[in-house]
Amino acid sequence: MKKYSKTNNEWKAQLSSLEYKVTREKGTEIPFSGDLNANYENGIYHCKCCGNTLFSSSHKFDSGTGWPSFYDVMSNDYVTLVSDHSYGMERTEVCCSNCGAHLGHVFNDGPEPTRKRFCINSVSLKFTKKE
Ligand code: FE
Repeated sequence: MKKYSKTNNEWKAQLSSLEYKVTREKGTEIPFSGDLNANYENGIYHCKCCGNTLFSSSHKFDSGTGWPSFYDVMSNDYVTLVSDHSYGMERTEVCCSNCGAHLGHVFNDGPEPTRKRFCINSVSLKFTKKE
């Protein structure tokens, strides 16, 4: 259930054009283009749109795909999984539960212990370093 909403014009004013395209129009950034793909500092990954707490550095791993990848979420309450049949593929979309932002997709080929691979656009995330 979305708790936080803005009009498209308000999102456009807040976000860069790429951030808007990815988070509000379900776009995908070019692999290896994002600042957070190779970030392995300790900290928390928040929603770029609303600041919701999404992922922890403790679950991040190098998937080799060029997108920030996590094998777990911080809480199932913070993300919403949606069946996505677009582009002739059967995928599961990952969205921010708070504002509905498109984050990426989750696949079942990740590492132990979950075997999940949350494949997330760097521009959908805002990283806060843990001091
Ligand atoms: Fe959000």
